[in-house]
Amino acid sequence: MKAQPKASHYINGRFVEDEQGAPLAVIYPATGETIATLHSATPNIVELAVEAAREAQPAWARLKPVERGRILRRAADLLRARNDELARLETLDTGKPLQETLVADAPSAADCLEYLGGAVAAFNGDFVDLGGPFAYTRREALGVCVGIGAWNYPIQIAGWKSAPALAMGNAMVFKPSENTPLSALALAEIYTEAGLPDGLFNVVQGFGDVGGALVAHEAVAKVSVTGSVPTGRKVLGLAGSLMKHATMELGGKSPLIVFDDADIENAIGGAMLGNFYSSGQICSNGTRVFVQKGIHDRFVDRLLERTKTIRIGDPLDPEVQMGPLVNKAQHDKVMEYIEIGQRDGATLACGGKTPALQGFENGFFVEPTVFTGVTDTMRIAREEIFGPVMSVLTFETEDEVVERANATAFGLAAGVFTRDLARGHRVIGELQAGTCWINAYNLTPVEVPFGGYKQSGIGRENSLAALEHYSQVKTVYVETGDVASPY
Ligand code: NAD
Repeated sequence: MKAQPKASHYINGRFVEDEQGAPLAVIYPATGETIATLHSATPNIVELAVEAAREAQPAWARLKPVERGRILRRAADLLRARNDELARLETLDTGKPLQETLVADAPSAADCLEYLGGAVAAFNGDFVDLGGPFAYTRREALGVCVGIGAWNYPIQIAGWKSAPALAMGNAMVFKPSENTPLSALALAEIYTEAGLPDGLFNVVQGFGDVGGALVAHEAVAKVSVTGSVPTGRKVLGLAGSLMKHATMELGGKSPLIVFDDADIENAIGGAMLGNFYSSGQICSNGTRVFVQKGIHDRFVDRLLERTKTIRIGDPLDPEVQMGPLVNKAQHDKVMEYIEIGQRDGATLACGGKTPALQGFENGFFVEPTVFTGVTDTMRIAREEIFGPVMSVLTFETEDEVVERANATAFGLAAGVFTRDLARGHRVIGELQAGTCWINAYNLTPVEVPFGGYKQSGIGRENSLAALEHYSQVKTVYVETGDVASPY
């Protein structure tokens, strides 16, 4: 299997290579085979990309927003037209099954380009009546923005960052995760084909050091990172020391609360989606499933029954529902947490092993895993695992579960399943999380803001909120009379 792109980087509207950069092997996680070899960006590549962005940005910012938006919407159409090939590429890069990549990756990026490409023309400043004189505000571009991606939703993340940046008249240099470098290059080609002027969307490959060099570059005005909390702290620290704008989309350990009166099949469906989709590699996953005592045993019985039917295997088989984890390090980390959970006294109710799959002996698979009898202090209930590992906890009262759900440094997401809607809204109102669901889980339509509270992040992606985070406000005071001067 091969997925070698034309070159490692995409700068100023074309593919660029610099073989001086450290080799970067792209591994198909289902088999462990190398499907492409790229090179990490050298300082020269970083400089070329930032320069291209700096040069191209002013003219782009002067275009009418509706014209910039038209190009984004054309790119959205191309993403949709190429969905099959992009889904395959994303499956090879991430190991996620085609069943997911066909519906959740390029389509989600396309939604974002389409929505923000349309919305930007209506995203204006304010008029302020000062009783004679008046003022108005302008929403202006920041300049060159840097996007840094994680490996779980590579093209979605590239789309969610570049769409608001470009819509507002910025240029972007995007660094994908070193684990999944391929689909951002495909997006760059699509932007060019859609008519985006050269230099406005550039892709450079590399590890954290390349990300750091981009953030530190004097021509860069903003950075948006999707990644773990430790990475977010480093990048925000660096950006802060240089007084740059920053958006942080970081990790979580989110609570999903199931009350006795919930529709049990829906609650189980939500919990499974919120733990097993993308092999559990989703930041907003509801990995602490709090189930009220009265429904607990029935919930667990049905959950196990349904979990055992998940089809795990060849991600390119359209019938397969679960693929491997992204790489060996992540596989080993998840297996270690499964051991830790058992050592800490949780009950391994199902899964927990690397399945034996013919033809995929070197893949990074982990069975969908459910722990019951989990308590708040166990490490599997406190730390982000980022794998298909669900922890089921029990609770008795509403006040108790709210307090326990909030007892975490994270605050990305939360969910409540109940038929009592007053309670649903009341509990959500108390939960310290930026993205919440009532009787659903993990849906992130582009129309609503997405992001975290507490350590899980700063800023928001999607919706009009994203446009705010990629622009700065200029206030203009206009005098209509004489200047009242005492001099
Ligand atoms: P990671 O933090 O290891 O890496 C994320 C990105 O940051 C990579 O591109 C990496 O090269 C880069 N990076 C690392 N160190 C850097 C530095 N010092 N300076 C600049 N860039 C640096 O995260 P990951 O393992 O790729 O992804 C998994 C994590 O991402 C999980 O914690 C998950 O919860 C989180 N995540 C969050 C969201 C969200 O929207 N909130 C979405 C997906 C994933």
